[in-house]
Amino acid sequence: MFFVEVVLPLSLAKTFTYRISESEFHFIKKGMRVAVPFGKNKIYTGLVIDIHQNEPGLYEAKEIHQILDEKPIATEVQIKHWLWVANYYMCGIGDVYRGAFPSGLLLESETIISHKTDVSVNQNELSDDEFLVYEALQHQSSLKVQDIISILNKKNIFPVLQKMIAKDVIVLEEEIKESYKPKLVRYVRLHSKYESNNGLSELLEVLKNAAKQKEIVMTYFQITASEKTRDENGQSAPKPVTVKKLVEASNSTSAVVKALIDKEIFEEYLLQQDRVSFSGQATDKQLILSEAQDAAFSAIKNSFLEKEVCLLHGVTSSGKTEIYIKLIEEYLVTGRQVLYLLPEIALTTQLVTRLRLHFGDKVAVFHSKYSNNERVEVWKQTLERAEKAQIVIGARSALFLPFSDLGLLIVDEEHEQTFKQTDPAPRYHARDAAIVLANFHNAKVLLGSATPSIETYFNTQADKYGLVTITERYNNVRMPEIVLVDLKDKHFRKRMTGHFSDLLIEEIAEAVALGEQVILFQNRRGYSPVIECITCGHVPHCQQCDVSLTFHKHKNQLRCHYCGYSIAKPTHCHKCSSIDLTTKGFGTEQIEQELASLFPNVKTGRMDQDTTRGKFGFEKIIDSFKNREIDILVGTQMLAKGLDFDNVSLVGIMNADNMLHHPDFRAFERSFQMMTQVAGRAGRAEKQGKVVIQTYNPNHNTIQQVTMNNYIGMYKEQLYDRQIYKYPPYFRIIKLTLKHREFEKLKEGSMWLYQVLSQNLNVPVLGPEEPAISRIRNEYIRTILIKIPNNLPLGATKKTIQKMLNSFEAVAQYRAIKVVANVDFY
Ligand code: ADP
Ligand code: ZN
Ligand code: ZN
Repeated sequence: MFFVEVVLPLSLAKTFTYRISESEFHFIKKGMRVAVPFGKNKIYTGLVIDIHQNEPGLYEAKEIHQILDEKPIATEVQIKHWLWVANYYMCGIGDVYRGAFPSGLLLESETIISHKTDVSVNQNELSDDEFLVYEALQHQSSLKVQDIISILNKKNIFPVLQKMIAKDVIVLEEEIKESYKPKLVRYVRLHSKYESNNGLSELLEVLKNAAKQKEIVMTYFQITASEKTRDENGQSAPKPVTVKKLVEASNSTSAVVKALIDKEIFEEYLLQQDRVSFSGQATDKQLILSEAQDAAFSAIKNSFLEKEVCLLHGVTSSGKTEIYIKLIEEYLVTGRQVLYLLPEIALTTQLVTRLRLHFGDKVAVFHSKYSNNERVEVWKQTLERAEKAQIVIGARSALFLPFSDLGLLIVDEEHEQTFKQTDPAPRYHARDAAIVLANFHNAKVLLGSATPSIETYFNTQADKYGLVTITERYNNVRMPEIVLVDLKDKHFRKRMTGHFSDLLIEEIAEAVALGEQVILFQNRRGYSPVIECITCGHVPHCQQCDVSLTFHKHKNQLRCHYCGYSIAKPTHCHKCSSIDLTTKGFGTEQIEQELASLFPNVKTGRMDQDTTRGKFGFEKIIDSFKNREIDILVGTQMLAKGLDFDNVSLVGIMNADNMLHHPDFRAFERSFQMMTQVAGRAGRAEKQGKVVIQTYNPNHNTIQQVTMNNYIGMYKEQLYDRQIYKYPPYFRIIKLTLKHREFEKLKEGSMWLYQVLSQNLNVPVLGPEEPAISRIRNEYIRTILIKIPNNLPLGATKKTIQKMLNSFEAVAQYRAIKVVANVDFY
């Protein structure tokens, strides 16, 4: 008898054994998909991860319905990596499989199929089965896979649907919900009327009285004559011209271009920026590294001779990207694949443009917000090692693509917490999972940051990772000057207007008068309910955990999120005895309003979750700031994410304390990172930038470290605290989150689990604790924190935890309580 071991796209830890025939046994390979029955009458697309002859003991193996692939579409290294992720992050292999595969490759019986409304279908190109499905969809806007099974009167319909998806006749329901559209870029070309050889002379005749328009047309001809590319047939063709480029090159305005479009001299067309297949040749211009960059580049290569991972610790604007590009060049020559991970999808457009200048069409982009078809396309290109996907840029999920020979992985802004997935499982950290993946491929990893995470820096000090440092900015740009404003003093002396100190107002006025731009930073996270003294800025902390205490309104208490320590809400400040205590933070909206009354004639913009939600929200704001349509940009942490502006001379941090007092053991580390990163947006070639930090705690160590650009000082201090209070990198933290609708049951259940864990584990277990937001969508929440010292074998401890979780599930009255494990939680 012959069997396959199959992973189902369900949140299940187990794989399932299915029967296959002998001929199938000889055909099937690991990494192929099979359609299999599951449960009463469900069908799923499963992935074969093993082929064997061992009959399962506990159940009778069902037969597969059908083999869906002729060749594997997942690689063995990939499956090995998924198994590691499932094991390390304590989730089901099914979770990883479901998260990794584009849903276009994952049909199941519950999948809903719709017809595409905006395409014309050539019915002759459809097979009989395909036509039946197509016809049924003309009468009904959507069908379940189950319905189609009965329409076609056969079980094996996945191949039919797969073909129809490929022919673009049908879509999966899920795709319709997708709202993300990458940025569109405006191009112009000559109207077809003027395409003939004497087009130019005709045109000049038409435009003889319109000098400005004529100028643009001339420039257009100049650009297209000098920059050629090749079309699909290998013929020389003019390179596409963007409106932006045309306006710049002719020193004109887009209004004039519009007039030419209205006159039907130009035609406008739009292309998706990061999907544009690059139709130029990569510039031949050699990238010239500065001396400091070149030294770093050699040092990285040297470090790779001995170590798998290297950290590039380079101050903001030191030109890390250029070093990545140089390094990628060297790996491309060897023919191996390169993966470039970014913390934020919104940053891809900028980067893709930069990389395509060097690598032309070899750059592919992958992220979860792309449509199914686009993701499937990149998946296949990666699998086939297509030249088009030799470099893959993506947010964290690109890690799960079917690479067969990765040579280099770059994790840019490695300290960013967005690399850790919170929900749903797998709750993996992309940086850490990338290092494991590199190991499987025998590849190298370059981590880059101006403000490395404590964990990563610790690994360099322990000699696990190499370390390369750049302390100067590219092109002799100076580091910004940092000025502290003591809010306590300013309040006392009545020098505040709303949230603006007199100094900040002065600096803004000066910058704006000089035509320079300003960034004002206000952290959203400040909204978490802590009690703060208005007079001295003191915020109560937990004595055991060193995190801020969180205000719980209904109990009128201050509580520690980690251990549950609580005190009654104080009536006066414990430090200065003032009775002026406040619980409120303030947001970006309020700042924008105050700004409007302080500077009524200045154009301001706001960048936060509310204003960037729309389709192009983020990029629109970035673009108008870059184009200097906005003078002052007010924003949240989005601003700290590696954006490159060239006219910002002033950065204001409205309130540094919000960040410092976030109830989180990483609060100081993050505050340092965020402030240093935002500060890094200031400064231009010809002028040193200025940063104004408003704070109640100008002497706070973290603020001082930011001011002195003292990363090492921050690192050493934090490391000391982490050891004392038992946090990473000395301890690994696993957070268990329990949820249930009934308060009492949850309370009882979490206490039961807590006790079992503390009795059976030889490590600190904290909780069960109510988080600040203790009820979400009608479910109550409790958390338990497990701290595992580094010198204990992590695997064994996790096995014990898993055992306890299994016995928890076996208790009848607790079965309905959901438990989620978050390993290395952020
Ligand atoms: P980082 O990522 O280290 O903050 P960037 O890579 O964004 O810095 O570089 C900052 C700016 O300097 C960018 O505008 C970049 O194009 C420019 N730059 C850096 N290195 C070079 C170089 N070797 N040649 C030309 N321009 C460079
Ligand atoms: Zn006080
Ligand atoms: Zn505590």
